[in-house]
Amino acid sequence: MNSFAILGKRLASSAMVLKSVKPAFASQPIRHFSQTQKALDQPTNLFSFTEEEQMFRDVVARYATEKVLPKVSEMDEKEFMYPEIIQGLFDNGLMGVEVDSEYGGAGGSFVSAITVVEELAKIDPSVSAMCDIHNTLVNRTVSDYAPKELKEKYLTRLATDTVGSFCLTEAGSGSDAFALATRAEDRGDHYVLNGSKMWISNSAEAGIFVVFANVDPSKGYKGITCFMVEREMGVEIAKKELKLGIRASSTCVLNFDNVKVPKENVIGEVGKGYKYAIDVLNEGRIGIAAQMVGLAQGVFNVTMPYLFQRKQFGQPIGHFQGMQFQYAQIATEIECARLLTYNTARMREQGLDFVKEAAMAKLYACQVAERAASKCVEWMGGIGFTREFPAEKFLRDSKIGSIYEGTSNIQLQTIAKALVKQYSQ
Ligand SMILES: Cc1cc2nc3c(=O)[nH]c(=O)nc-3n(C[C@H](O)[C@H](O)[C@H](O)COP(=O)(O)OP(=O)(O)OC[C@H]3O[C@@H](n4cnc5c(N)ncnc54)[C@H](O)[C@@H]3O)c2cc1C
Repeated sequence: MNSFAILGKRLASSAMVLKSVKPAFASQPIRHFSQTQKALDQPTNLFSFTEEEQMFRDVVARYATEKVLPKVSEMDEKEFMYPEIIQGLFDNGLMGVEVDSEYGGAGGSFVSAITVVEELAKIDPSVSAMCDIHNTLVNRTVSDYAPKELKEKYLTRLATDTVGSFCLTEAGSGSDAFALATRAEDRGDHYVLNGSKMWISNSAEAGIFVVFANVDPSKGYKGITCFMVEREMGVEIAKKELKLGIRASSTCVLNFDNVKVPKENVIGEVGKGYKYAIDVLNEGRIGIAAQMVGLAQGVFNVTMPYLFQRKQFGQPIGHFQGMQFQYAQIATEIECARLLTYNTARMREQGLDFVKEAAMAKLYACQVAERAASKCVEWMGGIGFTREFPAEKFLRDSKIGSIYEGTSNIQLQTIAKALVKQYSQ
């Protein structure tokens, strides 16, 4: 049963409880609620998962530990994601977590998708990045805005065998994303795309691209339209970036040189691309927050045992109070980041406004990830600084959290905007 169904059932049962006791309310004390009714009314903690969410967590944790872990450092060194790792993501239903089963997906909840991203990041933030972008940006745009025919044609592939990329950023438009210059010219039964995209994740492996281009620059951002583009239509995968972190996740420049895209490949309405991008990226931020929570927990998990093996001054270094206070602090921060992330994901599932909270979750989780990874390197002394131990990779990987899907300044701007609205009226 999905979480909506469970929530619906809970609400229905509490309504029944209220109805049945209403006549007696004035004269009867509240203890007339039965134990069962009480249990149904109990608020749950944020670590209460549905059966489906727990199942995803178990499957992905096993896959990450058994299949991804042995390849992590090789893939990082080669700056390349092994095809069998990507195939494993598809085989385990991790590339179509929320996609309806009618399109070949697992039909899971948003929290399940977030869980998958978090669990993968504990082992490899690069694999997590691929899975996150594919699920929370690419699949989400197609699922929410594309017509049925496009879903049948592309979502089925995205859920089962074809990697997708989300192509918004350009050399001249990063934080100011809607200043994009890629042009889509209307030629009757098709559009012709010209321009270049930059920093596009998954693009070395992708077969399908969700591309934002302007059909009428005189209308500014209201000309931005979203297109479904196949690699075979003529997308050129140009320079592959050499990066500080998440090296196995490909990031390339894409060129569109007179790429012919059929009119039926417009996702949603012409001129509404900016709106779709905003909505999808607001949600995507919860995914990045989950990636950073997973990363922080992952580096903490691999580092902590060392503190009780390594002895100095005749005792394990983890027993010095100076160390204890530091790891207690980091553990607390990871817990806070996780709760912020889970709560925002639940708000999104319940249809509440989550924009401010998503920005807070991403902002805070990436700060915690950086701090946790940096501390772990330090706690291990010299060995932590070498590539023999994964802490340095986690530290390199953590930096991206404050850059993609809106830099930390942009998250602060979003949070401040919400606060101004709330308090300045
Ligand atoms: C590894 C990687 C993967 C990526 N994947 C994708 C992808 O798949 N698809 C995609 O479309 N994009 C992707 N991006 C692009 C990413 O979203 C942008 O890099 C990001 O939005 C920042 O844009 P920018 O790099 O142009 O920086 P800029 O916008 O130039 O920002 C530079 C600095 O200026 C600050 N700044 C800018 N404007 C303001 C302001 N108004 N107030 C205060 N400070 C400000 C920023 O916070 C930042 O510190 C990726 C980037 C990287 C590095």
